[in-house]
Amino acid sequence: MADGLPPDYFVKQQIDETRRGRLFVVSGPSGVGKDTVIQHFLPLIDRVKLSVSATTRSMRPGETQDDPYHFFTMSEFRSLVEMDALLEYAEVNGNYYGTPRKMVDDELQRGNDVLLKIDVQGASAVRKKVPDAVLIFLMPPSYPELERRLRTRSTETEDQIDRRLLDARKELQEIPHYDYAVLNDDVPQAAERLRFIFQAERCRVRTSPTPVLAPSYLL
Ligand code: 5GP
Repeated sequence: MADGLPPDYFVKQQIDETRRGRLFVVSGPSGVGKDTVIQHFLPLIDRVKLSVSATTRSMRPGETQDDPYHFFTMSEFRSLVEMDALLEYAEVNGNYYGTPRKMVDDELQRGNDVLLKIDVQGASAVRKKVPDAVLIFLMPPSYPELERRLRTRSTETEDQIDRRLLDARKELQEIPHYDYAVLNDDVPQAAERLRFIFQAERCRVRTSPTPVLAPSYLL
């Protein structure tokens, strides 16, 4: 310890070019606004790479191969699973989605943080495989607001909307397993809250030994 100063964690955590990156996951119910919030968040911060998932769902108008997904046939996707090329994968709304492991490993190795924008099942798989991943749950202000958002984007049928609202009820029960919950009542504010979380995690010294208990209203 030189001149009575503590070890310089800022140098280690923030400036040191040899620092390994961290894995961050943003998850939450369908319709909560993950895409929009992340679009606002990415320009606010450096050294964060958004992972591009593999999927079997068909391309929508305006989408291209590799943006916003790597599009695969079911048999190609199965091969990725067999080769253990996916860090996690899940069936979401009748299609398969998965996180390519190589891009994540390469970017973490380069010292960049990696952000996964994935569903709640995927987040829980990541928690098991990468215990020090930072899990962030994006919350809607209320059920009626989530329903309004799902209906106004009009990309789903009535049945699909009902299904997603039911799923959302179960997914909200998972909040106690997350490190952070961010309310998406206002997109720029939610993006700013994400930025605070990344900055706080980059300054972290102690990792939490205490498991979080579920709030009593969820028990
Ligand atoms: P969409 O097809 O509408 O872009 O996404 C549908 C859902 O799949 C979203 O909740 C999205 O977060 C989720 N998703 C996208 N990529 C992945 C992934 O790699 N793994 C998992 N588990 N879910 C994903």
